[in-house]
Amino acid sequence: MTKLLITRARLFAAVDETVTDDGSVLIDGDRIAWVGPTGQLPPTASDGAELLDVDGKFVMPGMTESHVHLSYSNAHPSQLDRQPIPIAMLDAVDNARALLGFGFTSAISFGSAQGIDVPLRHAINSGRVPGPRLLASEKDLGSTGSNADSAAPESDGRKRIADGPWAARAAVREVAKAGADVVKIFLDGEALSAHAAPGVLSYTDEEVAAACDEAHRRNLRVACHARSAGAVKQAVRHGVDFIGHANFLDDEAVDMLAAARDRLFVGPGIAWEIQLLERGHEIGLGRNLMEARGYQHEIDETISAVKRLREVGVRILIGGDYGLSITPHGSNAKDLQYFVDLFEMSPAEALLCATRDGGLAFDPTGMLGTLEQETAADLVIIDGDPIDDIAVLQDADRMVGVMKAGVLHDDLLR
Ligand SMILES: [Zn+2]
Repeated sequence: MTKLLITRARLFAAVDETVTDDGSVLIDGDRIAWVGPTGQLPPTASDGAELLDVDGKFVMPGMTESHVHLSYSNAHPSQLDRQPIPIAMLDAVDNARALLGFGFTSAISFGSAQGIDVPLRHAINSGRVPGPRLLASEKDLGSTGSNADSAAPESDGRKRIADGPWAARAAVREVAKAGADVVKIFLDGEALSAHAAPGVLSYTDEEVAAACDEAHRRNLRVACHARSAGAVKQAVRHGVDFIGHANFLDDEAVDMLAAARDRLFVGPGIAWEIQLLERGHEIGLGRNLMEARGYQHEIDETISAVKRLREVGVRILIGGDYGLSITPHGSNAKDLQYFVDLFEMSPAEALLCATRDGGLAFDPTGMLGTLEQETAADLVIIDGDPIDDIAVLQDADRMVGVMKAGVLHDDLLR
């Protein structure tokens, strides 16, 4: 196993908000062997190690994108799976490379057009293509007339429609058979949808209970689309692991999330609403129309929801719904900016959401998301200081290197 000593780093280990001015990280194979202030490095620990003097650059753990759609080809929201499968696969390879290049060493999938995630995960894990560690999902699971059930026949590559508990179980079994790690289920709707509004629950409790039970007995985790308090409560009641959006919360929903905070994670995925208002006109969805549909209200409610969840210690994850024309792949670090600007987090707190908390969501054993002895050697080297300016994470020129499992990449964005 090769050893590498990264030294003279401005070090953010993500155990807490501490930054160490002159820190070192010793990597042995795919694990971290030692981390701390350079002056405290044991005398013989780095014997035989290759030396990488980063001259004050910022070193932090790799980030987790908690709601990824690598199979979406930066297309119009209504055309996410109209690419022929071979082209979509090639696009997904590019998307995985860009995501890793921007420092995301892990990603949790929230839905995969054409089931592309599973072969992509195999290709990444076998070293054929560079990309993040991936919890792969499969096609979206939803009821007839749900937000997953678009009227366009072209959407067939993106959905499994199942009605009734046994059909929901069978659909989850198909997802498991396909080799996925995650089942994505739609619990309520979307303001843009002509037939499935937010707040209308598209599944009964019996159906959600069946889907979650079936997923968990097969060691799959469950990710859901849940915008309304009713949908969030349904998700908590039935053991959903990753709750996407959670925009509109009432007191009961906040209390239930607080009580379950050790077993679930919430990702607001706010890029969608923000970019829809800012750039929707590019895809024929003007700002006035989107405001009339309620998207500004949704942002305002999300700000208050996130504030309340932080107060009760619910873990909030970054990421969500990048991969559309208005939210292209690779711009995912904008989420940390939203966490700072919109949710009023300190940059260090936003970084902890992206690293420590995202790592725990991906791997509950604690191997990911922090730089500690024996954790995975997943880290990012940045020419800049995200504690001063969180936007440096969006700048390809500042991404000096990304390490995943001890392998350092410095050419993914060039
Ligand atoms: Zn999504």
